[in-house]
Amino acid sequence: MLITHDTRCALDTVVDLVNTAPEDESAPDGLPDVAALDAFVRNHQISDVGALSEFDLSAVRKVRGRFAAVFAAPETRAAAGLINELVAAAGTTPRLTDHDGYDWHVHYFAPGASVADHLAADCGMALAFFVVAGERERLRRCEAPDCRRAFVDLSRNRSRRYCDSRTCGNRLHVAAYRARRKEAAG
Ligand SMILES: [Zn+2]
Ligand SMILES: [Zn+2]
Repeated sequence: MLITHDTRCALDTVVDLVNTAPEDESAPDGLPDVAALDAFVRNHQISDVGALSEFDLSAVRKVRGRFAAVFAAPETRAAAGLINELVAAAGTTPRLTDHDGYDWHVHYFAPGASVADHLAADCGMALAFFVVAGERERLRRCEAPDCRRAFVDLSRNRSRRYCDSRTCGNRLHVAAYRARRKEAAG
């Protein structure tokens, strides 16, 4: 499938956003305060975002939960419904742009949108196009038992099972190797 620059950025952003969510109640939130949200916005070059507030922080965390649900959706129809709700709630104003030297592409967030609506509109549309392309199953959760981080499997044959943020695949290989050795020694 064709993945344009902005789609790729939006996918990276949505994965990173979902992965800031605490894995359980005792774990720290990856977006603990407005300063962390500000850093997130700068790192992901989210354009046209003004000064951020506590309101933005709680709105972004809500949107984050809705994106997490898309990654956890058991099948495409459920994912499509969630994406529709996300995008509808954000409101969109599609318009062509060639900002910052990028080729022509479409922005979806409405002018003056809050950062939460911006993320919901543009990342939501990126996920929508993924569904349209028949690629929904590439939106994955790492299969390592103690990880479950979100990632997008861009491998040719959709065979990736583990995220690479904590070299989960490697850890499992090591665990399997140790188990085999133990068995052989046993
Ligand atoms: Zn753009
Ligand atoms: Zn992992």
